[in-house]
Amino acid sequence: MPELPEVETIARGLAKRVTGEVIESVWLGQKKEPLKSPASQIAATLEQSRIVAVRRMGKHIVFDLDRVGWAPSPAKSRKLKETRSKQPRSVVPAEAGEGARPTPARAQWIVHLGMTGRMQVCAPGTEVEKHTHAILKLSSGRELRFVDPRRFGRLSVAQAGDFDATGTEPLEIEFEDFAKLFRGRKTPIKSALLNQKLLRGVGNIYADESLFRAGIRPRRRASSISRDQLRKLHSYIQEVLQEAIALGGSSISDYVNSDGEEGFFQLQHRVYGREAEDCLVCKTPIKRIVIAGRSSHYCPNCQK
Ligand SMILES: [Zn+2]
Repeated sequence: MPELPEVETIARGLAKRVTGEVIESVWLGQKKEPLKSPASQIAATLEQSRIVAVRRMGKHIVFDLDRVGWAPSPAKSRKLKETRSKQPRSVVPAEAGEGARPTPARAQWIVHLGMTGRMQVCAPGTEVEKHTHAILKLSSGRELRFVDPRRFGRLSVAQAGDFDATGTEPLEIEFEDFAKLFRGRKTPIKSALLNQKLLRGVGNIYADESLFRAGIRPRRRASSISRDQLRKLHSYIQEVLQEAIALGGSSISDYVNSDGEEGFFQLQHRVYGREAEDCLVCKTPIKRIVIAGRSSHYCPNCQK
């Protein structure tokens, strides 16, 4: 599952490739699961909109859109229909949703990659992969596609500013606000770090790695952690995420392209996934426990 650093890398890669493009037409597949907003509304919002920015919010990719034209002229409609009829699966007429809800001039397209979702930027002739759920034709002639075999990914649209993932960005939060999150909280610190209402998008791997660097056991009650330890945790979360983003930055093109998965260089894990292996610091075997249904890895000697 793509974690925050991967999503950041993908969003930056997409920003480089598609910012400034106008979405000329949209094709959406028949599978219902990937569409969190009605298909007609997604198509009506995206078509004839310019992508002014692409950024990450939590684990979501957000495309900021600006309307460039209103209802397409009859000639344009015909052209769009022709384009669509060449596509392999069903067509969603953008017009269907327009009566019900006016299309806002500024809007957002929100993509969550789920487990296996990928964004492709490709030449129009590129073969359409199985499990392609959306194809956006761009003004440059290229296409932006959403592919997701397991269909846990989600596409939705919102009026500009309406979409606000819960929680605070872990890379932006100041220490005092960070410390406040855990005050009086009786849950294990690991659960608190994974709680999306507190911090956006710190995943399982990065939570384990940050706790290791900060020397805090994952099962420790959040409210029992000293201010000094919280200060360490705050800076190590940011350090771990930044390191992972820096590693991913060198592989943007591979990741965004069709054979993406192999492109993201992972952070060298010190505890995550290393059960029974020696701690890299003290050689004590790494332990694995389950907290709230998720695996947690820690060194019983280095972490207190
Ligand atoms: Zn150790």
